[in-house]
Order: sequence, then C-alpha cells, then structure tokens
Amino acid sequence: LTVLGLESSCDDTAAAVVRGQTVLSSVVFGQTDLHQAFGGVVPEIAARAHAEKLDICVERALAEADVGLSDIDVIAVTSGPGLIGGVLSGVMCAKGLSAATGTPLVGVNHLAGHALTPRLTDDLRFPYLMLLVSGGHCQFLIAHGPDRFERLGGTIDDAPGEAFDKAARMLGLAQPGGPSVEAQAKQGNEARFKFPRPLLDRPGCDLSFSGLKTALLRARDSLAAEQGGLTRRDVADLCAGFQAAIRDVLAEKTRRALVDYLALAPAAPTLAVAGGVAANMAIRGGLQAVCDESGTNFTAPPLRLCTDNAAMIAFAGAELYALGQRDDLTLSARPRWPLDKLAAPLVGSGK
Ligand code: ATP
Ligand code: FE
Repeated sequence: LTVLGLESSCDDTAAAVVRGQTVLSSVVFGQTDLHQAFGGVVPEIAARAHAEKLDICVERALAEADVGLSDIDVIAVTSGPGLIGGVLSGVMCAKGLSAATGTPLVGVNHLAGHALTPRLTDDLRFPYLMLLVSGGHCQFLIAHGPDRFERLGGTIDDAPGEAFDKAARMLGLAQPGGPSVEAQAKQGNEARFKFPRPLLDRPGCDLSFSGLKTALLRARDSLAAEQGGLTRRDVADLCAGFQAAIRDVLAEKTRRALVDYLALAPAAPTLAVAGGVAANMAIRGGLQAVCDESGTNFTAPPLRLCTDNAAMIAFAGAELYALGQRDDLTLSARPRWPLDKLAAPLVGSGK
C-alpha cells in the first residue's frame, strides 16, 4: 500500500510518501522565519503559508519518492487537532487530490500520527505504553490499537515543549527552544539551581510544568538583580537545572504509568516516546533508566520523525485504512480532537 500523507496542523507544511514501513519521501517546509518576529505562531499567517506551499510540497514528495499520483493507493491527511486554518488547507488539498484521482481519503488525528510513529520505525505490537511529549501535548496513553488509545494522565497546564520554548525566550535563546536549551544544558551544571518537581507528591501520572517556568523566571531575575546581567555560565546552568527538572518529572510519572500498563501483562512490554520533546537526549536517558528497572523495552523514533512530519500521517492513514476507515468529501477539520475519543466512525464496519 502506497500512501501520500499531508500535514499542516501547526507551523510545518509537510507531505510524504510511505509504503509499508518504508518512508519513500518526507518533505517538511518549516515556517519559523515567518513567525519569528511575533514570538509565536500566528494562525492566519500559518494558514496562508500552508495554502501556498502544499501543492509544491506534494509535488516534491512525489518526485523524491519517484512515484506519480496514479501510484498512490490512499491519501491521508491530518484533519485535527490543530490550528483550524492550517488543518482546513490540508483537508481541502487532500479532498481535491482525492476527488480528481478517485483515490480513497483517510482523515488522521495528528496525535495518533505521533503515537503510531514507533510502529513505523519498529516492529512494535499493541498494547504499548506511549508517552507523547510535544509542543502542545503531554500525555501517557496505552495504545491498544491504531484507533484505540487509553489515557492514563497528562499535563494539567503547559506541555514540556511549550515550557522549553518559553524558557528559551526568557534566556534570549533561539526558537524552537528545546534544541537551544538542550545545547546550553550540555555545558551546564544541573545541581546549581534546584528547580521544583511539580506534582510528584500527588498520586497518579498527571503532570504540571507552569510552576517550573515561574521558578526559572525568578531565578533569572534574582541573578540579574544581583549581578546586573547573566553570564554564559549562568544561562547554561539555568538550562541544565530546568531540563533536569523536566527529565525527573517525566521519569517519575513514567514509573507510575508503567505500573498500570504492566498490569495488563503485555507479551513484550514497551514504552515508546513520540513528539518533538522526545528528541531530547537527557529526557530519553531518564526514561531509559526507568524502563531498565522493570525490564521494559524503550523505543524512540529518529529525531526527524519525532517532530511534525507527514510520514507519520501517511503511516497512521495506512493503519486506519487497514481497519476499514474511509472518508469522503464531507471530511471536516476538527480543531479539538482528544486521542482517547478518536471514534472516527468506521464506515461500513458496523463499529
Ligand atoms: P503538537 O504536536 O502538540 O501539536 P507541535 O507539533 O508544535 O505540537 P512537535 O513538532 O511535536 O510539536 O514538537 C515541537 C516541540 O518540541 C517544540 O516545543 C520544541 O521546542 C520541542 N523540542 C524539539 N527538540 C527538542 C529537544 N531537543 N529538547 C526538548 N524539546 C525539543
Ligand atoms: Fe505535532
């Protein structure tokens, strides 16, 4: 099955061609430069850029995969959640291609794309435990099937990616913040600043990151007041302490989520991480250590498949297509669409 995937839910315009577990092409046009001056993604600008770039993105993905539209068996498109204008651009483009060629259309939940990526890169069986950590999300899910995710807990305020981005802004580092903070943290001493580990005193695996941001702001301001500014070492130490707090909270909450998951007695217990923050090597290390304690496998997709891309959408589309999902020109964009309520009606399957 050869699938063309489209992704435009945030600030990356992406198209990809995937056949089985092989990524034939994955083209991503970022928009960071368009939004830089505004300090965040501007929905209208994003939507217009998606609308302008989708066609050429698709053309390039087909060319790089060395296939034509007639070789495509399924067109998969992110139909939510995300910025409505961007999602609509993608959905309209996919509908146009589907209508013009008669190729079946499958609407994909963006988060399901992230959560299924470990099955694209690894021969991973259900059920597996998924930690989805991205710019806008942070949740523990038991993946029972391509359209069945059980939520164990998640952030009650910010997502870690957002926290990394805000931290970088506070410290004058480049966006996206995660890679900038990680690079600084490598040079820093994580023990110098002791940042809070929120919600560790509460049972369950809910998380919170907004207090951590405030703590970083206070530490920065008090240093600046004492010394009249921050040295390079201060910035590196602040980043190291901040990243260590996120690593520790994610590790401890993972330990708890694993208890619930392992109670299902899965044949090959596995924790998979996905989302942009899963690119962070310190965080990966913390998760690996927790998995080692219980003999749980740990898997993380390669970095380019952790951040937004269309290969994950194409792959998820193939999985849903195999389950019988078919969409048509009535497919609509859903700005909000929690993963545990996928419930995309399976046409003709009686589910
Ligand atoms: P969502 O998928 O929730 O809609 P998104 O699509 O914006 O959000 P992703 O593209 O999955 O999120 O991830 C982007 C986020 O990942 C950014 O917040 C970025 O700072 C963060 N990130 C990327 N690399 C790293 C890293 N090395 N360390 C920490 N965070 C990182
Ligand atoms: Fe994403």
